[in-house]
Amino acid sequence: MANPKISFHGAAGEVTGSRHLLETDAGTLLLDCGMFQGHRGDAQAKNRTFRFPPASVDAVILSHAHVDHCGLLPLLYKEGCDAPLYSTLGTAEITGVMLADSARLQVSDAQFYNKIHAAENLTIEPLYDEDDANKALGHLQPAEYGADFSPLPGVRARFHNAGHVLGSAITQLDLQTEGGPRRLVYTGDLGRQEGLLMETPEVPEGTDYLVIESTYGGRLHEKLSDAGEKLAEVIKRAVKSGGKVIIPSFALERTQEIVFILDRMFREGKVPQVPVYVDSPMAVSLTEIFSKRRDDFSFDDKFRAYARMDGDPFGFDYIRYLRTKEDSQSLNNKKGPMLIISASGMCEGGRVLHHLRNGIGRDENIILLVGYQAMGTLGRKLQEGMKKIKIFGMEHEVAASIETMHVFSSHADNSDLVAFVKAAKPARGVFLVHGEPEARAALTEALTKEGIKNIISPLPGEEFELN
Ligand SMILES: [Zn+2]
Repeated sequence: MANPKISFHGAAGEVTGSRHLLETDAGTLLLDCGMFQGHRGDAQAKNRTFRFPPASVDAVILSHAHVDHCGLLPLLYKEGCDAPLYSTLGTAEITGVMLADSARLQVSDAQFYNKIHAAENLTIEPLYDEDDANKALGHLQPAEYGADFSPLPGVRARFHNAGHVLGSAITQLDLQTEGGPRRLVYTGDLGRQEGLLMETPEVPEGTDYLVIESTYGGRLHEKLSDAGEKLAEVIKRAVKSGGKVIIPSFALERTQEIVFILDRMFREGKVPQVPVYVDSPMAVSLTEIFSKRRDDFSFDDKFRAYARMDGDPFGFDYIRYLRTKEDSQSLNNKKGPMLIISASGMCEGGRVLHHLRNGIGRDENIILLVGYQAMGTLGRKLQEGMKKIKIFGMEHEVAASIETMHVFSSHADNSDLVAFVKAAKPARGVFLVHGEPEARAALTEALTKEGIKNIISPLPGEEFELN
């Protein structure tokens, strides 16, 4: 027999585009099939081609439903893969919503590109469409946390809770090598030790090889317990000024975290109740899944207990979930105080742009940024205090006050990552993925100090034999 080999085809020295390939005597297994997200030209090149033939993949394991982990599945199946796709039940449901949205975005993006480049005769095809997304989804084979399944003959697999988002899983794989059986553990994205909704990540036993994310290597998060206070302060200000609080939010996890904090604060009477609008069809669909799966193993005990006591942890008297354009537009003429939670989180698209256009010029309003704002995004420009910005090509004065909450993150920070590796005690090696070079270097240093050996930062396409 030959030893299994693992190679890294994305998220090696960068954060997005997770695709890790495991080749064994029994067949080829793909861990995640994520989309690379970045500037258009670069992203197009990285997303259009696979470094391996899609038809050669015999099984796919999906760690969670973020697009940088699942977003290229439709292309994989469009280009000849016919393999079963394993995920947890929660991930399977959420991936349906995420891929449908991603497919619509691919199609409208290509249409837009072709329109503005029509004179030069430049055209692009969408990466994939909704039919391709449905084809991929048709291969889903959900598995429960803690239950064994066999993605390849002779290979046993099991999902553990990763604590990152609803449904997120750490994958444990038992492989055969020339030296005997070896356990490989892939964390996917790892949650925090102390989360808001999610349970602390579970640590599999008997790990030989660990493939771990390193997004926040070298960095520490603020404590989540302070989140309510800052939110309450912003709401009280809006009540006084009669203004609107516009919260650009990510549809998955962040929106539900904020709604849950509001639910708890309103119930406890910590702030005056104000109308709350969740204005994003995707966020509405995802919150429905959260609500339906409120007993999912992903959630921590405290949240589950609260959900049982409250009955509806994402619902209270003055919250409205908006799907239609008309409902969204009707907010323009409504008077504050109110909270509008709308996508996208970095103000790069989506309905939040309409609310910003409508509200950013008034000094009684507050724009509350609740997530990471990448360089070059409108959210980043606001965060940096720019006084004039462009929305849909029109210039606007920024009169509203801009606030940022840094507490939110669904990722483990440096101390969480170190704690996880120390508890997992990988016997034969650690591969650091899903991190920028500085983050990987910082985490390597921190782990080395703890006596962890054989820490590898793989390069894109690099292959390693597991023995
Ligand atoms: Zn993620």
